[in-house]
Amino acid sequence: MNDDNERLPNTRAAAQKVPPKPLPRPQDPIEQEFWNRCQDGYLYFQRCGSCSTFRHLPRYMCAKCGSPEFSWERSTGKGTLFSWTVTHQALHPAFAEDLPFIAAVVELEEGVRMATRLIDCDRDTLELDLPVELDFEPISPEFRLPVFRPDMNRREKR
Ligand SMILES: [Zn+2]
Repeated sequence: MNDDNERLPNTRAAAQKVPPKPLPRPQDPIEQEFWNRCQDGYLYFQRCGSCSTFRHLPRYMCAKCGSPEFSWERSTGKGTLFSWTVTHQALHPAFAEDLPFIAAVVELEEGVRMATRLIDCDRDTLELDLPVELDFEPISPEFRLPVFRPDMNRREKR
């Protein structure tokens, strides 16, 4: 008998191995397009072809005017901190090594809000409307996620 089988299930080698971080699972081609553009290192949002309103999450119709027309426009990557929480408990084992981390909602200059992560940020720096800037964090060899960090140059100019 293998020694590992004599251990309690949660102490076996397989249970101790950190699983990979879960990747987004796009539900449709528009959402897939959003993530594909992120892999190129740019953040793009849909912009309504009728009323020019930016939108996020990716969707087929403008929430303001109902138009299905849109184009993809590159974000400036600049925004402000709209909301956050400091997470001390990993709801998925892949995130345990990152604890504590800051789950945030950022409001971009384009007017859309985005759920994301704030990196390179001391908790003492956290404040509403903190200027933040875009970066990308690799979460697997072939996938990177848009994240934000404090933009201290813009913060000091306020
Ligand atoms: Zn519209």
